[in-house]
Amino acid sequence: AAPSTSTDSSPSSYPTSHDKIQQPADTQMFIDNKLVPSQAEQWIDLFDPATNNLVTRVPQNTHEEMTAAVDSAEKAFPAWKATSVLARQQIMFKYVALIREHWDRLAASITLEQGKTVADAKGDVLRGLQVAETACGITTQITGEVLEVAKDMETRSYREPLGIVAAICPFNFPAMIPLWTIPVATITGNTCIIKPSERDPGATMILAELAEKAGFPPGVVNIIHGSAKTVDFILDEPRIKAISFVGSNKAGEYIYSRASANGKRVQANLGAKNHCAVMPDCNKNHALNAIAGAAFGAAGQRCMALSALVLVGETKDWVPEIAERAKELSMNGGFEPNTDLGPVISPQAKERIESLIGTAEKEGATIVLDGRGKMPEKYPNGNFVGPTIIANVTPEMTCYKEEIFGPVLVCVNVETYEDAVNLINSNEYGNGVAIFTRSGSTAQRFQKEIEAGQVGINVPIPVPLPMFSFTGNKKSVAGGGANTFYGKPGIQFYTQQKTVTSFWKADDAVSTRAKVNMPTQS
Ligand code: NAD
Repeated sequence: AAPSTSTDSSPSSYPTSHDKIQQPADTQMFIDNKLVPSQAEQWIDLFDPATNNLVTRVPQNTHEEMTAAVDSAEKAFPAWKATSVLARQQIMFKYVALIREHWDRLAASITLEQGKTVADAKGDVLRGLQVAETACGITTQITGEVLEVAKDMETRSYREPLGIVAAICPFNFPAMIPLWTIPVATITGNTCIIKPSERDPGATMILAELAEKAGFPPGVVNIIHGSAKTVDFILDEPRIKAISFVGSNKAGEYIYSRASANGKRVQANLGAKNHCAVMPDCNKNHALNAIAGAAFGAAGQRCMALSALVLVGETKDWVPEIAERAKELSMNGGFEPNTDLGPVISPQAKERIESLIGTAEKEGATIVLDGRGKMPEKYPNGNFVGPTIIANVTPEMTCYKEEIFGPVLVCVNVETYEDAVNLINSNEYGNGVAIFTRSGSTAQRFQKEIEAGQVGINVPIPVPLPMFSFTGNKKSVAGGGANTFYGKPGIQFYTQQKTVTSFWKADDAVSTRAKVNMPTQS
């Protein structure tokens, strides 16, 4: 059975290999706590990236089907909003326990549909689970404020849910990113519509099934499918009050403008080109391991993948040693034991990545390690690109300017720390950045001078845990990054404030003369 139809957490009930699925089941919607088959006329074939065998067909849901999901979310909202925060918290405790119980099954779905290794897929689930775990602390996170503003008069503030909110998700973290929305949106009293990536919706379907098991009432979590048509439906549906988008700049900038023009709240995390400055005084062994891991792990398909290395001074000579470590990484099907990197998502992605490597060659860079045409023996039909290192890159080259989103590390040489900071700050993206150094003062200076929003000091992928927020900036977010995901800002995003000012006079003796001036409460 395909993962979207299996409800068991035991390994015998879901695929744990890249073997061809004999009768692939169609992906269903999830509406009113039920799996609903689609009557779609258009279907999107989903292939295992390691083999290009068909895994499932994903529907382009019809307008009526998507409207049914919103109807369900609308119907559920008043009662869900009125449910006590303690009751919602109990459901979240159960949800957390169920995600842990189904951790391997979720990871298997991710490996099958997205291609990343099982260990990496488990990390994908865990990073989302941590958002749900942190959401369990809602009882201390959502408290309002109260102040006695005048004699016998007080103002208190509450945070109330918005209503129906929606998430439009990318392919690269099929569990983590839906879980940036589901726990935070629901525990604050909203109902939600999730549109997973049409390239790997299986994990979201399992998360929906677990939501029902955890006790979320029908309509609180709904799943719809499709590509641009589904996105346009979400953008234009007036009952949807807020949109959480994660994905490319192309889609995200469009989504941000159209949803904002329609009066919706939007949080949108976009693309990246994450740099890493390597200082000659760093712990070389730690730095080289961290760089190879962060550049090639997940086949470079992380928005926080380390993709541009800035080699300061003599560290330009370290490239062959990075290449040695990269060569030791094992590329294989994600289910195979000891695999370090799996395939990229599609044949088109592979072609695009290989053509970007080609531009580097033409534009005068040095291909130190070439992953083009590399293929694990067992998976000759997969979308594999081996770890690739391009040296002597300059900022005007295409491979430097584009987000490659594959296992490709571009290396730029600079003379000084200042040159490194200037180069990195000139880049239009501002998602993540790292520095490797043993000097506390260099690190301190770097964290102040660098513009990117998530800084790692001897840490290659500095994605903040959910007690903080995901704080990319510049072109890596839309709308100036005012609405960031999870953490305190995440709760603020999914809630609106209400303030209540009340007057209770102890002796009830009030003058008979009306006051007409603007009350100042002073
Ligand atoms: P994508 O933009 O192609 O797709 C994301 C979502 O948008 C999908 O659900 C898709 O159906 C929809 N979509 C795609 N094209 C559309 C269009 N023209 N009109 C309307 N909707 C459209 O992104 P992807 O390839 O799935 O994900 C990779 C990208 O996501 C990379 O750029 C990566 O950096 C970025 N990303 C960013 C973060 C972050 O937090 N900054 C995290 C993960 C991924």
